[in-house]
Amino acid sequence: MRRASVLAVLFFLATSSTALAATKAIKFGKLVDGTGRVFTNAVVIVDNDRVQSVASGNAPIPAGAEVIDLSRYTGIPGLIDAHTHITYYWDGNSTPRYEPPRHPVVTAFLAQENAQKALEAGVTTIRNLNSPDGTDLAMRDLINMGKMIGPRMFVSGLGIRITRSTAAPTPIGIMADGVDAVIHAVRQVIASGADWVKLYGSTGGFDDVTQFQTFTFEEIKAAVDTTHALGKKIAIHSYGPAGARDAVRAGTDSLEHATDMDDQTIAELVKRKIYYIPTIDHNQYYVENADSVYHFPPGAKERLGDYIQRNFETARKAFHAGARMLVGSDAVYNGWGLNMRELDWFVKMGMTPAQALKAATTEPAALLGMDKSLGAVAPGFFADIVAVEGDPLANIGAVSKRENVRWVMKAGRVVVDKTKGPQKSN
Ligand SMILES: [Zn+2]
Repeated sequence: MRRASVLAVLFFLATSSTALAATKAIKFGKLVDGTGRVFTNAVVIVDNDRVQSVASGNAPIPAGAEVIDLSRYTGIPGLIDAHTHITYYWDGNSTPRYEPPRHPVVTAFLAQENAQKALEAGVTTIRNLNSPDGTDLAMRDLINMGKMIGPRMFVSGLGIRITRSTAAPTPIGIMADGVDAVIHAVRQVIASGADWVKLYGSTGGFDDVTQFQTFTFEEIKAAVDTTHALGKKIAIHSYGPAGARDAVRAGTDSLEHATDMDDQTIAELVKRKIYYIPTIDHNQYYVENADSVYHFPPGAKERLGDYIQRNFETARKAFHAGARMLVGSDAVYNGWGLNMRELDWFVKMGMTPAQALKAATTEPAALLGMDKSLGAVAPGFFADIVAVEGDPLANIGAVSKRENVRWVMKAGRVVVDKTKGPQKSN
């Protein structure tokens, strides 16, 4: 009996590894590889989870390889969303943020729907900034084990906040006041297994567009230094200019939102090569869903509309000053699947479609320290590849509109295939 079951397991392992080991040859009409090269009639050879080779024209296909013909589409690297909230799950009935509390395991399970929507938008990697009860850590690990389907995750666990209010909804995060408490909180977050530290350097979020600085410069500096001393990186949220100024001065690795930054702060951000993730579009979907989904109070839409304009203007200024800009959706609840709409704002602020695409591929790969394995379709890189309808170098809508994402491979596995469904024009 025991022997039989061992044999069964061995047989299963043997067959499953054979299935995984199969070489795939993927054909694209055009391939934008992420390193600046464009291949026509491209053939990408994928072996296990990695890209083996990329070639143009009638490149030879290895004997026995599975041929996947996507020649009517353009291939691009798997997209990276540098700012998400994957465990903010909405059931479609109640009002998000006012749902009854859920067990963390339930949250992680339900959030698989968000993970699926990310993949369907072509997003194969995310940086997730703030989750309750270790839910993003659990999802990251399950996805890496192959037991859950979703984008590759780099996570911060709990975000660090100052004590402000105990009124509902209680903010998710570790409360820390004073330098010692901040140091302790950063160490707790890293000890929990987080890849990143997230610090809330100002008020603001959802319908609240206030911009008050929360942590002092000394507290922010302590957070940055403690994070770096342990070999990790930190992302600092600031809705307003004061928190942004101190985050930049303290040497944050990435700066989130940062509306109304002054010229001096922008110049310093550029000089220090700090990544800037403006997250413009998320307030747009708050406006679109303010009444029907979020039930925001009167006046919220107007305040958000005003904030969006200033957020965009700051981002435009930063881009023209030479800032390293990244696409971050700040996706929550029903924003999942709209992750790449941010690209439209980036093009609107003056980026070429190629530059915008870099802000969602090679640039965030560098932020994550993964520039040798993510963000490009190139030999040795993870086989994270997306097939889109249309030419993203001519019209970024080929990527930003999720209906144009037709097929997605993550680490050599096909995770989305809509090539046989109804075709939509560009
Ligand atoms: Zn966020």
